[in-house]
Amino acid sequence: DIEKRFSNNIINGLPGVFYMFVKQADEYRLVRWNKNFENVLGYSPEEIYCKSPFDFIAPEDHEYGKKKIEDIFIKGHVESELRIKTKEGKVIPFLFASRAYQQGNRTYFLGQGINLSKQIEFQNNVKTLFMAFPDILIVSDYQGNILYANDSLKQQTGYTQEYLQKNKGKVALHPPEDREMLKNKITELLSSNAVHTDIIENRFIDKKGQTHWYSGVIVKTTFSGQPALLTISRNITRSKYSEQALVESENRMSTVFDSAPVIMMLINEKREILQINKKGIQGLNLTKKDYRLLPFGEAYKCINAFENPAGCGAGVRCGDCLVRRTIQDTFTNGTEHVKVEATLNSKDTKYYILLSSALLKNDVTKEVLLTVDDVTEQRLMQEELKQSVQKAEESDRLKSAFLQNMSHEIRTPLNGILGFSGLLDSEELSPEERSYYIDVINQSSNQLLSIVDDILSISRLETGQIEVLSEQVNVNAMMQELFAVYNTKASERNIVISHGKELDDKQSIVFSDSEKLRQVLDNLLSNALKFTHEGHVKFGYHCKGNTLQFYIEDTGIGIKESDHSRIFERFQQVDFDSTRVYGGTGLGLTIAKGNTELLGGKIWLDSLPGKGSTFYFTLPYKPVYPELTPALADDGSTKDSEQPAILIAEDEEINYLFIAESLKEIDYKLLHAFNGLEAVELCKQNKSICLVLMDIKMPKLDGYSAFEEIKLIRPELPVIAQTAYAMVSDREKALKAGFKDYLSKPIKKAELLNVISKYLEIG
Ligand code: ADP
Repeated sequence: DIEKRFSNNIINGLPGVFYMFVKQADEYRLVRWNKNFENVLGYSPEEIYCKSPFDFIAPEDHEYGKKKIEDIFIKGHVESELRIKTKEGKVIPFLFASRAYQQGNRTYFLGQGINLSKQIEFQNNVKTLFMAFPDILIVSDYQGNILYANDSLKQQTGYTQEYLQKNKGKVALHPPEDREMLKNKITELLSSNAVHTDIIENRFIDKKGQTHWYSGVIVKTTFSGQPALLTISRNITRSKYSEQALVESENRMSTVFDSAPVIMMLINEKREILQINKKGIQGLNLTKKDYRLLPFGEAYKCINAFENPAGCGAGVRCGDCLVRRTIQDTFTNGTEHVKVEATLNSKDTKYYILLSSALLKNDVTKEVLLTVDDVTEQRLMQEELKQSVQKAEESDRLKSAFLQNMSHEIRTPLNGILGFSGLLDSEELSPEERSYYIDVINQSSNQLLSIVDDILSISRLETGQIEVLSEQVNVNAMMQELFAVYNTKASERNIVISHGKELDDKQSIVFSDSEKLRQVLDNLLSNALKFTHEGHVKFGYHCKGNTLQFYIEDTGIGIKESDHSRIFERFQQVDFDSTRVYGGTGLGLTIAKGNTELLGGKIWLDSLPGKGSTFYFTLPYKPVYPELTPALADDGSTKDSEQPAILIAEDEEINYLFIAESLKEIDYKLLHAFNGLEAVELCKQNKSICLVLMDIKMPKLDGYSAFEEIKLIRPELPVIAQTAYAMVSDREKALKAGFKDYLSKPIKKAELLNVISKYLEIG
């Protein structure tokens, strides 16, 4: 009894249902069961006692149940899933584990059952979930044979599980390279402790042959008790393509951005650079590192940004900055600006730019795309062009004014010459009248000659064909001569002229080009006198270390400060109307400046309108006697006992007559050669010849060649050239060839005597 109670306790304490039945003849009768058995079925112990277990099993499972009981005899025990039917008629799945044993001639069966309804419900749920899962789920064995797949496979690829199983080896669900990759991933997974792979991107080819992108994982699992693999694959085709499209469009955009021929940049509201294209990096000399978040003004080295420690936008002038306002307007009002003309004063240069700005905005960020077209070069070119047009117009204006002026300047002396030579024709002229007329003609001719000289000088200065000589120039003597010339003119007009010489005569001998120096002084003196009506003209020089500074001071009409630099340009006259009064061509100062510069000096002026002007120019002081020894060397010239002769080589009779006439007072015999050959011949025969006046242009043998020959016979003989052209170049050429001196035609008597006096004593 104790034993019975003990076993009852045990079987009632079991978690599932407990049962024991016996086989009698062909009938099964329940003999023992526990409380759970009664509770689950809803029957009382009386209703259960001696009933067959099949009375409580759903009729559809009877056959299966009986078969399982027979199995017990073979195996000793069985497990069977059977549905029971409760008193209320509810069918509940159960898993039974039963065994049998023999006692005498009776066979007892006993076992336990557990309620499977929860488990099956769960399994069903899982199965439904599996089937309806939106991702493709495939269960396969380790060799890749598909064991099970869900509906998504069919929906997304068009293949059923069965079709794939049947056509294994004929249908490829993945492109070959992905298949290979998946195989490797599986091998890797199986050889590791991991439960699943990382996320794998691979492609599926659907039944129509189209490729789709998937991302998925492979998980180790079991299927029907066998190890298997579950592959979960999610279609990412759309995002993959939009991602690709995004990358492509970004690539395209950045290509456009980078290959733009103008500077482009993205900036934030603080005008800091977020991104800048290649052109910008190159154009602004930025390095890849330092442009990020660099303020716009600093990238351009804007002076305003640099002056202020707080940088771009904080400067005093930043409020006026058009660039800043344009960008700000785009940020706050979204206004799109196109090609705003602006300037940026950079530390190194001034930029002219065309600025375009557009707002790029999304929920998170607000950026402005700036396009900066640097038009500095074009602007400068435009300005240059404008200036050169102005200059061209100005020079055109000057040219016509000059021509007008010129024709006046030339006509006046020509009229004088023509008019008075007409008058000379009359026979009833008194000697006084005749000499007056000749005077006028002479003066007019000189005036004309000086105009022609000016024009020649200027064109030679401008073409840079002038050679500068280094000869001994006695500055004091030159001052004296000029004083003599201008004193006469000044006293005619009641103007006092004076000159100052700082050095003594010997010290004043310098190496320079005497002709050019004289021309400068001459120009300045004649201007001083021309523009002065009363008062004085003073000129002279001071020695300042190794320069001589010349001054020519007048109390004339003066020149406005604004005209000071202009008057040195050719054809420039302070005002053309007044020139009518004063005459002139506007070339004098240009020539003076050109000559001064050739001599190694510079020229400038001080002047007050109405008070007068002082022109200054400098000359390098290169003394011939730097050691200041006072005694002058005697030239020790000897005299021939025979009467000395001057040879005049000149093919034009009239010119010879003029020279002969001019030299009739001096105590020399004159010899005349009609061509170069004769000249050479005469020099050979006549030792008494002590000077030759050699015309350059002569028949048979020209002056240069004749001179070459004479040099061979009488190297010490002074030969003076005379030419028909008033070209400075001829003079230079002649001196270079070794001629002692030079006379240009028309030769003036005084000049002739002056030159001869340098080589002969003509007392
Ligand atoms: P020109 O005297 O033949 O007109 P210049 O080149 O010598 O040409 O001088 C240019 C201009 O400069 C003159 O026309 C005159 O207006 C002004 N100028 C030159 N020298 C003087 C001066 N000493 N005083 C006042 N004006 C002068």
